[in-house]
Amino acid sequence: MHEKLSSIYDNVLRRNPGEIEFHQAVREVLESIGPVLGKHPEYAESKIIERVCEPERQIIFRVPWVDDQGQVQINRGFRVEFNSALGPYKGGLRFHPSVYLGIVKFLGFEQIFKNGLTGLPIGGGKGGSDFDPKGRSDREVMSFCQSFMTELYRHIGEYTDVPAGDIGVGGREIGYLFGQYKRITNRYESGVITGKGLAYGGAQVRTEATGYGCAFFVEEMLKARGTSFDGKRVVVSGSGNVAIYTIEKIEQLGGTVVACSDSSGYVLDEKGIDLALLKQVKQDERGRLATYAERRGGHASFVAERSVWEVPCQVAMPSATQNEITGRDAATLVENGCVAVGEGANMPTTPEGIKVFLDAGVAFGPGKAANAGGVATSALEMQQNASRDSWTFEFSERRLQDIMSDIHGRCLQTADEYGMPGNYVAGANIDGFRRVADAMLALGLI
Ligand code: NDP
Repeated sequence: MHEKLSSIYDNVLRRNPGEIEFHQAVREVLESIGPVLGKHPEYAESKIIERVCEPERQIIFRVPWVDDQGQVQINRGFRVEFNSALGPYKGGLRFHPSVYLGIVKFLGFEQIFKNGLTGLPIGGGKGGSDFDPKGRSDREVMSFCQSFMTELYRHIGEYTDVPAGDIGVGGREIGYLFGQYKRITNRYESGVITGKGLAYGGAQVRTEATGYGCAFFVEEMLKARGTSFDGKRVVVSGSGNVAIYTIEKIEQLGGTVVACSDSSGYVLDEKGIDLALLKQVKQDERGRLATYAERRGGHASFVAERSVWEVPCQVAMPSATQNEITGRDAATLVENGCVAVGEGANMPTTPEGIKVFLDAGVAFGPGKAANAGGVATSALEMQQNASRDSWTFEFSERRLQDIMSDIHGRCLQTADEYGMPGNYVAGANIDGFRRVADAMLALGLI
């Protein structure tokens, strides 16, 4: 790492003890932007990098609620408003027992550059709670969401901070959160949250956007190498929102997804995942993947507590959680003939894993670029809410595809400009950083 950046990184470690995921996310960006400082000394002079590593505001709050047994439960809520140079803070809410400040900060930090890369007017933020919706009744989830919003509402707004979903926060949770916001404020402020249902101000393609966008991004990477998804064997991790719509689009593009996973293991289905059955088990019934294998009969088998990355494939689409592809997993994938990786999840590949992929010449699409379709379509939802309009599915999907193609092109062009052809990690980090840095310079000392 560039000497000046190394000392900034040491300071980040010292000021944010124990937040290992946040350290990892900062390190990855700082390792990429060294060459930018040579061309733009004004960034260092104005301490843009030190400023970008420090959130503008961090909110931590108590979330008391009552479960179905009448017991009071206490969770912790977070919202990190990281950077508003480009627009209102924008980023999802994650409800998962592993959530603590370090996770929210890593996600918020990544979001700044991802949102910059979309070219849309959105800043970076993220939030969530250590609440686990798994196994909770609808009534319990509603009770939790109402309590969470009873504190959060005072910090958010169409022009201030616009949350959305992430792990554990889908259409059901967004509905309860928006309902409570509306009730407290007495305002039908549709643009305060995205990922809304189509019945109350949501946008076509938002549900599908992250997965579809990631498949479009990988299709662009394959096209740049003279190939496509057609006939390719693909493995997708996770079986939530991002995974399901990644599978759907890949199948439409001619690929065959032979495996997907959840936190209990993976399912191998050599004939290709039966999407209707997967949606029924995971979305409608909120069930486990083992049930998918049982119902699919002889075609599929469930493998408990093993990594899905042991399944041979040509394209890997990590779409579950952070650090799910280790250096060893990456080496296995490369040995098995993997030629492209698209990160649907945020930071799913460890630094060792990324190195293995880049050294092997695998087309590696980092999350900041490859999964930016979700937040980009959220920005389109805000645009439709502001103009009281709603676009068709076809038009919205075309916009998404254009945005992903544009991001892909800019990553490649920036990587070329800085002498690292084909390196999408460098391209995404540098392009996203430059956009935010230029806006911060123009706005003065913010
Ligand atoms: P969901 O909650 O819909 O699905 C998450 C999936 O990942 C589930 O299958 C879950 O399994 C699995 N998973 C979650 N945590 C773990 C873990 N610790 N170990 C193993 N498996 C795990 O979330 P999303 O699909 O929305 O999000 C997935 C990833 O995509 C996240 O990294 C998120 O940040 C990222 N992302 C999401 C966007 C969106 O629009 N939703 C936008 C951009 C990125 P189980 O059900 O067993 O817990």
